Amino acid sequence: MARIYRVGIYLRLSRDDGREESQSIQTQREMLTDYALRHGWHVVDEYVDDGYSGTDFNRPGFERLISDVELGRLDIVLTKDLSRLGRSYVQMGEYIENYFPEHNVRYIAVNDGYDSDKLDGADMVAIKNVLNEMYARDTSRKIRSVLNMKARNGEPRNTVFPIFGFNYTESYERVPDAETGPIVQMIYRKFVELGSGGKVARYLTENKIKTPRYYNAVKFNYNKAKVLSMPEEKHYTWSAGMVRDIIIREEYLGVYKTAQTSSINFKKKKRYKNKDCYVFENRYPALIDRETWDLAQKILKSSRGSSIDLSENAFKGVICCADCGRTMRIEKRNNHKKGIFDYRYYCNKTDCEHSNSISKRMLETIVVKELMALKEIILKNEEKFLEFASQFDSKGRVLVTDVEKELDRLKARCEEIDVFIEKLFEQKVLGSLPLSTFNTMMSKYKREKEALENEIGVLTRKDNEEKGKPANQLKAIELVKLFKEYDETNIIQPYIIQKLIRKIILRTSYINDSMKNREIDIKIQYYSCDEIIKGFMTYEEN
Ligand SMILES: [Zn+2]
Repeated sequence: MARIYRVGIYLRLSRDDGREESQSIQTQREMLTDYALRHGWHVVDEYVDDGYSGTDFNRPGFERLISDVELGRLDIVLTKDLSRLGRSYVQMGEYIENYFPEHNVRYIAVNDGYDSDKLDGADMVAIKNVLNEMYARDTSRKIRSVLNMKARNGEPRNTVFPIFGFNYTESYERVPDAETGPIVQMIYRKFVELGSGGKVARYLTENKIKTPRYYNAVKFNYNKAKVLSMPEEKHYTWSAGMVRDIIIREEYLGVYKTAQTSSINFKKKKRYKNKDCYVFENRYPALIDRETWDLAQKILKSSRGSSIDLSENAFKGVICCADCGRTMRIEKRNNHKKGIFDYRYYCNKTDCEHSNSISKRMLETIVVKELMALKEIILKNEEKFLEFASQFDSKGRVLVTDVEKELDRLKARCEEIDVFIEKLFEQKVLGSLPLSTFNTMMSKYKREKEALENEIGVLTRKDNEEKGKPANQLKAIELVKLFKEYDETNIIQPYIIQKLIRKIILRTSYINDSMKNREIDIKIQYYSCDEIIKGFMTYEEN
């Protein structure tokens, strides 16, 4: 008579498996029972751990399995694959290689093709590979979770040297460096002024400003011997790339970034998730203010692919074609007759039907005229303008409160209706309400609720828009200050134009097809004060 084998099947579903059907307890159960039956074995018990992680061997189902093994109740243990048994390499290896054999239990991981009774050399290699892989995964998971916790909390890391411009405190907190911090500030200032990394690099080299590599060697002993053995001029030889590396760093805003190694979403204030790192705002003293930094990024972005310098190209990225909406290009034009050259902005897009263009000189004349007209109105009515801007603020605020009040009212009514509907159902169930009354009341409430929800949606959107309103008055004060400082002789400077104007939309049309009779139409959108300026102009006209 054939021996009857007593089988225990072990089923585990962990939270990190997700809820995939292929892993579900039911799927595992069917598969393993089927396997046992096909071999003529007898399933004496099943041991289930639902929702327990494989890294933990203190699982009720698993504990019961082990105690049954100890009691000699099982001949065979079945799992779907090795990882069902557990995900910790050390303990798994212990069970597979020592514990089960010692207790005369045959262990089979069906999907991995592992069977302790049928092990030959090749199988041993296979199992080792699986275990090694699990070991690696296990270890890296542990290291990762420690690193990740530090990253999530924004804990400072111990690196060889801090970001240029900063120094470390004893606890590796970042603080501005008295020597290199001012260099970073100068680099931003010069970049905004000169508009190109190459020019800044030349400036730094000419003024013998030492490079980050030099300071890292001297201050932090990084490659010290090598760096100090170089010819002295190498210590202040800058490249455009080195300048660019400094310009793109968000860290100069006081932002702290830590690598993100998991995809867990943590919702904590002042921290947002980036593609591959955690970002903490205002974590350190800033070296560069936000406005300057943003401007530098804008210049950096627009400087690609143009050989003409920003100092010659104040309207870079600002002047747009009215027909296709894209920014115009600048080109140099020689006027051989007059022996001079000038620049011209033009739309170079081949799919643009019109050929809007304007000479730089003409554009400057028009923009100066516009700005000076604006300056005159604003400075003449300075008090009124500032008051208008502050009203602009409060108008916005009143609106927000009103919207919010209305939203609260609508939401309260919605909740009320829910209660009514519930009561209707109750009464219907109790039989105290005629069906016709129930139906009429129900459809009335449903209609009202639908309308309410619709309105709540609209108002919520409006509320969100209004909330974004920044302090307009401050912007107005800054604009007044700027106008007091600059006049028609000095207002056309890249820094001022880029700061003041978001967009200039240009349309040129020929009257009677004559090249000489050109109509030039320009619309200016101001950077931060656009709405206030336009509102004030209409207000003044009336
Ligand atoms: Zn165009």
